[in-house]
Amino acid sequence: MTCPHCGSDACYVNENSPEIKTYSCFGCGFTTNSLMKEGEEFFNKQLEVLPELYKDMIFTDNNGLKWMPTTINVPNQGMVFYNGTSKENAKWAAVKAVKIAEEEKEKYPIKKKPGQFYEYRMDMTTMQGFEMKDFMEALSYIGILPE
Ligand SMILES: [Zn+2]
Repeated sequence: MTCPHCGSDACYVNENSPEIKTYSCFGCGFTTNSLMKEGEEFFNKQLEVLPELYKDMIFTDNNGLKWMPTTINVPNQGMVFYNGTSKENAKWAAVKAVKIAEEEKEKYPIKKKPGQFYEYRMDMTTMQGFEMKDFMEALSYIGILPE
């Protein structure tokens, strides 16, 4: 379908259940779902935990759905999130994951699983910025999409 936020045709609908649909746009990286509406409990919960920047970015479409930037976190590949001190200077930030050396593993314990350790960590030195419309390039950078 056409994305109401950026107008590209790279927007996809996923039916999670007959009641709930998720909309994701690869053009601008914005996402929403059937519960992201004024007055919905789910939306209110999101507002409580969202970073200020994400709240500032919220876009309401003609059906009242609230769109906001996606956050991607794939432990063995990397993460992509919207980053900046204000709406005006914000960009996508892409960070690559790197394998943790055997001798360093003990520095990265998995809190919920005592005695186990992470295999990958996010390497902040690889952080690279991408314009909003270059969301797909950010995904390629961390290897989620082919170059
Ligand atoms: Zn879009």
